[in-house]
Amino acid sequence: MRTRTQVGIVGGGPAGLLLSHLLALRGIDSVLIEVRSREYCEARQRAGVLEDGSVALLRDAGLADRLDRQGLIHGGIYLQFDGQRRHIDFRDLTGGRTVTVYAQTEVVKDLIARRLADGGALKFSVTDTSVADLDTDRPVLRYTDEAGTRHEVTCDAIAGCDGFHGVCRPSIPPGVLATWERDYPYAWLGILADVPPSTDELIYAHHQNGFALHSLRSPTVSRLYLQVRPDEDIAEWPDERIWAELAVRFGLPGWTLQTGAVTDKAVTPMRSFVSAPMRFGRLFLAGDAAHIVPPTGAKGLNLALADVAVLAPALDALLHGDQTPAADYSATCLQRVWRSTHFSWWMTTMLHRTPGADEMEMQLQLSQLRYVASSRAAATSLAENYTGLPVPRADG
Ligand SMILES: Cc1cc2nc3c(=O)[nH]c(=O)nc-3n(C[C@H](O)[C@H](O)[C@H](O)COP(=O)(O)OP(=O)(O)OC[C@H]3O[C@@H](n4cnc5c(N)ncnc54)[C@H](O)[C@@H]3O)c2cc1C
Repeated sequence: MRTRTQVGIVGGGPAGLLLSHLLALRGIDSVLIEVRSREYCEARQRAGVLEDGSVALLRDAGLADRLDRQGLIHGGIYLQFDGQRRHIDFRDLTGGRTVTVYAQTEVVKDLIARRLADGGALKFSVTDTSVADLDTDRPVLRYTDEAGTRHEVTCDAIAGCDGFHGVCRPSIPPGVLATWERDYPYAWLGILADVPPSTDELIYAHHQNGFALHSLRSPTVSRLYLQVRPDEDIAEWPDERIWAELAVRFGLPGWTLQTGAVTDKAVTPMRSFVSAPMRFGRLFLAGDAAHIVPPTGAKGLNLALADVAVLAPALDALLHGDQTPAADYSATCLQRVWRSTHFSWWMTTMLHRTPGADEMEMQLQLSQLRYVASSRAAATSLAENYTGLPVPRADG
């Protein structure tokens, strides 16, 4: 079946879904295709920290009703090292900036509900996605829908929002993209647990046994992570072992880690990856399709949202004959991407124990942590990066 739309969007994660909504606000038609089912997308456990700019973007776009009611505003984080837990006060250090704890699952649910309520074309559970004719002004998106019907959609532009393992980036001819990549020699074992958080704000813990993070999802649900090997067999981590190791790494006299039923458990590899430019002809890459950061700095979701906040007005201009914002899209986004890539790498290497590293790594990390916890300048740098650069607004 042959059809036509203005923007074909590949991928129904945060980037693709928000882009389809931002385009609709501008009166631009799109068709979004997603390989997974709606239920899978809404349940996939990933990020949980929104920068101020991301919250403002979602609010401007009319997407923050539930976020404003249920999001937990955090004015800082705790850094734990060398037997002490020190608070980094974002509000004080940045003139009032905060972050909001609101799970990516909830962002995705809000976006899907709004697009469907607005009559948006979201196609879940598609197969055999491909993109073609990218260097013409009529690029083509092909897919097979859930019922087995093959579709060919002629577009004015295609947005590749299909994550790191998607088809869009590999569809760009060899030699066009430059890539930078770093795999880390550790991974995160993450759990979701039905237990009230044992902390009011996130705890980033440096420990001889490896890094641990106590994050939150709601007043009754906690998200916790342990540094493990990249090839860790999750079967070797029954719930009791996970809670015992978390208690060791977060251990402080007078503080108790509450435990509860584990409802989700997974090992996530850690990688830094940037490809540039984020455009080839009429194909524009956004979010994890173009760049990946390790989760330590809580940047992946925020970068995805920021990309499409730049892309929506650029596509609007392109469709109305103004090429300039589209020509600037990649360079504009990459400034934020590289800042976040550096910050995520810095947080990651400061807090994780490299397998086989000598005692000097430990001493250098502890020195850096002491400096961040005691120097206003160093703490301000962390706070500025964590709370994020300004994000273009929905009407920008
Ligand atoms: C396991 C995991 C844990 C994470 N934890 C954190 C965290 O704690 N903090 C943080 O900040 N970030 C975290 N991230 C990163 C963050 O979740 C991502 O940066 C964010 O999801 C990026 O959004 P996106 O829309 O660009 O990509 P994605 O969310 O990956 O969405 C891409 C979508 O494209 C779909 N797709 C793929 N191929 C095709 C195709 N051929 N056709 C159609 N659709 C396709 C996928 O199914 C997916 O729904 C985590 C990522 C992972 C993988």
